[in-house]
Amino acid sequence: MTPVTVFNGKRAAVFGLGSSGISATKALIAGGAEVAVWDDGEKGRDKAAQERLPLADLKNADWAKFDALVLAPGVPLTHPEPHWTVKAAQLHNVPVIGDVELFAAQRAGVAPDAPFVAITGTNGKSTTTALTAHILSAAGKDVQVGGNLGTPILALEPPKRDRIHVIELSSYQIELMPSLKPTIGVMLNLTPDHLDRHATMERYASIKFAVPDRAKFPVIGVDDEYGRAMAAKIAAQGRKVIAISTTQIVPHGYVAGQSHIYRTAEKDAKEAANLAGIGSLRGVHNAQNAMAAFAACSALGLDDQTIQRGLRSFPGLAHRMEEIGRKGKVLFVNDSKATNADSTAKALASFDDMFWIAGGLPKAGGITSLAEFFPRIRKAYLVGEAAADFAKTLDGKVAYEMAGTLDKAVALAARDAESSDAAEPVVLLSPACASFDQFPNFEVRGNTFRTLVQAML
Ligand code: ADP
Repeated sequence: MTPVTVFNGKRAAVFGLGSSGISATKALIAGGAEVAVWDDGEKGRDKAAQERLPLADLKNADWAKFDALVLAPGVPLTHPEPHWTVKAAQLHNVPVIGDVELFAAQRAGVAPDAPFVAITGTNGKSTTTALTAHILSAAGKDVQVGGNLGTPILALEPPKRDRIHVIELSSYQIELMPSLKPTIGVMLNLTPDHLDRHATMERYASIKFAVPDRAKFPVIGVDDEYGRAMAAKIAAQGRKVIAISTTQIVPHGYVAGQSHIYRTAEKDAKEAANLAGIGSLRGVHNAQNAMAAFAACSALGLDDQTIQRGLRSFPGLAHRMEEIGRKGKVLFVNDSKATNADSTAKALASFDDMFWIAGGLPKAGGITSLAEFFPRIRKAYLVGEAAADFAKTLDGKVAYEMAGTLDKAVALAARDAESSDAAEPVVLLSPACASFDQFPNFEVRGNTFRTLVQAML
């Protein structure tokens, strides 16, 4: 835990009692603050009561006495409208912050030079965060990893000189972190997302911009217009940007070509790492993540060979193109995290002869956008509520079977893949759908797939 000693003797209201709210409360108390915690939901309040945290109905609190409102990242700050706690805080000029801001304040107070890698973007945050932390750990560094991914930031060990914090930040968290000042600020990519919360793309982009803008070393993906604008804005201030691209050679950064990462100078590019054969980093999207991790580790002083070794031993994250194993020539891949067609496109672009398990709770647009990959799909096995709609899209273009449930789909796909003439057939679960029609979440769906496959191996 990171006790927030810089808040010693102050008073904080904590609203939203998920894992980050609970750990923020404990870290504040351990640091000597007086805390009042609350949640609109009974579940959160029950959890707090079990943990003997100081529950207090904030609706009837004297807000003037608080030094800060620590808000859970999921609670609306501005859109569609500010939560009632935010309105109460604003009325009394109480700053509204997140657990990440408490960490930033603590770091600034006790170890301002402690290396801090902040990672954001619309897609690839978790992969890049886990990969960066893995490379640094494999190199023998003292690393703490978490934030939006996994362990809440204040449940991690405290910042100190030579201990590197690698933190995934969602846009919600960045909004609640006014004194963000990372050593490395990675901004991977930006596409429309979470506009219910941020209202416009411009606002969403301006929130994300804080990560590279406030960093000593800004690392920016320049394959979309927003990333390019951010890089230009920082460069216009005369500051150095480490640009990464999968499509063009950008000076003083990195470019990824066919399974290689190149470091670019003013005019030329030199090979920096080889991604060929690294199963956990298949696909152009993972080349972007790998480049970002490479840039971050290199800026922190690791040499190229050490980074290459870390890339090679990266086990990958569960449910994101996770290789479960092989039965004979058949490779089984769990991509349960792909809950929309955009994510599934990344997986379909990565293999040749696919036996594809898809379906679940449908998302708008279905799978019509995936047509360019249909020739590589040997057969589709459709499950869940989306099956009938997907069948309509595939009809006459791709062979399919209405499998209904995941267990049937796995059995059918394995049988067909084994008896096919493909040299490297792949049974791929990449649903392009949410899981909630048949599973509690995408993790349970992926774990079920893994268990079914392992029983066959
Ligand atoms: P996040 O944490 O931002 O949600 P993840 O690393 O968990 O991202 O990856 C989620 C999914 O997003 C992956 O399964 C893949 O389909 C897609 N993805 C991963 N990295 C990228 C990237 N750099 N660009 C575009 N899509 C990506």
